[in-house]
Amino acid sequence: MKKILLSIAFASITILANAQECKKADEDAVARIKADIDYLASDALEGREAGTKGEQLAVEYLSKRMKEIGLKPMGTDEYKQPFGFSKNVMFSNQSILTVNKPSFKLNDDFYPIKYSANHVDIQGRTKWVGYGIDAPEKEYTDYKEVREAYMGKIFVMDISSPDGIHPHSAYLKYHDLNARLDLAKAKGAIGVILVNFDQTADAPSPQFKKIYSKGIPVVFAKGDMIKSLFYNKDVHHPCRIKVEMNETKATGYNVVGFIDNGAKHTVVVGAHFDHLGYGEEGSLYRGAEPMIHNGADDNASGTAALLEIATFIKEKTKKFKKNNYLFVAFSGEEKGLLGSNSFVKQTPISTTDMNYMINMDMVGRLDEDKKLAIAGVGTSPVWEETLNDIKCGGITIKTSQSGVGPSDHTSFYLQDVPAIHIFTGTHEDYHKPTDDAHKINFEGTAFVVAYIETIIKELNDEGKIEFTKTKDQDNESAPRFSVTLGVVPDYLYEEQGMRIDGITEGKPAHNAGLQKGDVVIQMGEIKVVDMMSYMKGLSAFKKGDKVMVKVKRGEEVIETEVTF
Ligand SMILES: [Zn+2]
Repeated sequence: MKKILLSIAFASITILANAQECKKADEDAVARIKADIDYLASDALEGREAGTKGEQLAVEYLSKRMKEIGLKPMGTDEYKQPFGFSKNVMFSNQSILTVNKPSFKLNDDFYPIKYSANHVDIQGRTKWVGYGIDAPEKEYTDYKEVREAYMGKIFVMDISSPDGIHPHSAYLKYHDLNARLDLAKAKGAIGVILVNFDQTADAPSPQFKKIYSKGIPVVFAKGDMIKSLFYNKDVHHPCRIKVEMNETKATGYNVVGFIDNGAKHTVVVGAHFDHLGYGEEGSLYRGAEPMIHNGADDNASGTAALLEIATFIKEKTKKFKKNNYLFVAFSGEEKGLLGSNSFVKQTPISTTDMNYMINMDMVGRLDEDKKLAIAGVGTSPVWEETLNDIKCGGITIKTSQSGVGPSDHTSFYLQDVPAIHIFTGTHEDYHKPTDDAHKINFEGTAFVVAYIETIIKELNDEGKIEFTKTKDQDNESAPRFSVTLGVVPDYLYEEQGMRIDGITEGKPAHNAGLQKGDVVIQMGEIKVVDMMSYMKGLSAFKKGDKVMVKVKRGEEVIETEVTF
């Protein structure tokens, strides 16, 4: 009992000592941080997009720096840990659609859609299945016949609905093509030809980056040729569908170094080093000429901070010896947390042996308020009290609970690792070519580094900290946004866009007539492809902004103006 009291007393003395320790930024640290950011955010690296030469240069630099610091290589190839990703999907002209005699022409007459299986070649008889909708509560079904009538057939399905595709359709909840294809497969379809006869629906997109295969070929056929074939819907035409698509694969690289103290648990410190290259997807730049997006704050700053923390811990190992330390510079974050997602699935240290994870993304713009946003404090009961005890360079903190957010800590939280995310706030250069090194507060970054070092030191004696699941919150409480849509996003939605799971009355989304189940695909000029792009997009708006928001409701696309 005494011993415990004693260690509590010592703990508070340590806190006081720490408070003094980070009143001044270490000049050498500031110089190193500046040198790292200056290089990573230079034009030579062309915006460090995953899968490009610029990324390679960054990987070489980071490997060299980790070696200098004395970190042990923990990638699969020295410090490098590769991961593959799909960059684009192109149709091969070996794809075939033949119904009865005529052969359709790829692109002009038909094309595979993202739900199609790849490398498949099937033959069978067609079966007209109307809209492919089964709505018992409306006493409506397109599947009236016995099961055998459908088994092994190639379904021909109209992508409209019994009363068309529009927001007031009585069949709204059945518009979703994804679900209709699942049903078709369950009914025995070996392939599906989609048609758009009443033209109220939008044709499925011929452009997609990833295949979401349903396990059977699915093609969209357009034009009069297909229409004339199904003038009589009772004819079962002989049919062949062959789908060949080429996925352009690319490789990205995480960079991984280790301090091995022979401890049971390992602390992970992470920051993504990739950025947007010359813009395009994810960029908020609207100029005509492609420009290098240097990403000094996003996230050369976090990467430099990572190297600095590694340097500090390596030098002062004694104070930190109760954990091992894994330093991971992630790539592919801007493409949807690709690097961290792959990392947690092939990590050199099992996630169950990870004590906690600290992520830094955009830590270079500490302003006069010295406010630091820390997300994910709900992932362990330990965070809140630890963070509140730290006095460092006048930094004040704003915390939020959720372990899910628009950066790499999310990948660790989803593996039950306590994970926090550190961020100095968004700004007008966010995701633009103007996010340059000369706008970085280098001394401020050094204070953020000192703050994080203090967290790590404080937790040295805590053993393995407890993990808790967090409630995924409404964006209102997330720190990086100055506005809210007033919705609960569906974090598990896997298709393109952000699906609304709930709506708060009286908030912007509700006022604009958005509904539960709507999928937000665009806000202003920002394309929303997933949760990350949604959250990043939202952070670009201010209170009072009027923004065009595009949502998919079933197969219908609706535009509406939202006032934040
Ligand atoms: Zn970032």
